[in-house]
Amino acid sequence: MLQVQDISVHYGMIQAVHGVSFEVKQGEIVSLIGANGAGKTTILRTISGLVRPSSGHILFEGKNIEKEAPQKIVASGLSQVPEGRHVFSGLTVQENLEMGAFLRKDSGVKEDYEQIFKKFPILKERRSQDASTLSGGEQQMLAMGRALMSKPKLLLLDEPSMGLAPIFIKEIFSIIQEIQAQGTTVLLIEQNAKMALSIANRGYVLETGKIVLEGTGQELLSSEAVKKAYLGG
Ligand code: ATP
Repeated sequence: MLQVQDISVHYGMIQAVHGVSFEVKQGEIVSLIGANGAGKTTILRTISGLVRPSSGHILFEGKNIEKEAPQKIVASGLSQVPEGRHVFSGLTVQENLEMGAFLRKDSGVKEDYEQIFKKFPILKERRSQDASTLSGGEQQMLAMGRALMSKPKLLLLDEPSMGLAPIFIKEIFSIIQEIQAQGTTVLLIEQNAKMALSIANRGYVLETGKIVLEGTGQELLSSEAVKKAYLGG
């Protein structure tokens, strides 16, 4: 479904990503793990069209998207939940979800709100509340709900566990599995390697802008190198 082929990304003189290649197949959860500054967010933003690669190609369902405008990429079925959530403050929970459906032209939008509220009951309770007054975990759910309202084929999640209490992290990860079970493919970027690999079909380890290891979620979880560097020994 998604093929990232040998992409490099520069910020001015600084090279943040060095010839990275990986793929996400339909129906999978693929986790990309790595420490602070490894280049995870840069790769996601490059896939979404917010950052341009200096070389390499990105194919989504067989089509080159590395030069497409971000809104065209979303319209083609690829939606990103950014790091730090970025819900729209000054808008209610309901209005934030409406923004997610902005590009849709089909008639199923109303039903999909109900699906989102089923998945995230707290959002239903808070539907008239200003999004900025939600807790961190609730904002993460809203950002995920908003992205799901665009009916993506592929959902890109940037560190959904960041800053959340363990109970919320568990809930968010079980919802990610539910999203997969309902047919959406997921690319998950995480520092929380244990959680990210435990739900992943496959994973990649990124270090200073390069992929250094890949395997199934279970293979990576039991790899000595991963244990030492990311799982506390
Ligand atoms: P974190 O988990 O801390 O968010 P990350 O793995 O997502 O880290 P990136 O945010 O992609 O890493 O950053 C990769 C490298 O690129 C870092 O060295 C960072 O300082 C640099 N970088 C990121 N954005 C910019 C920018 N806009 N201008 C210059 N350098 C940048």
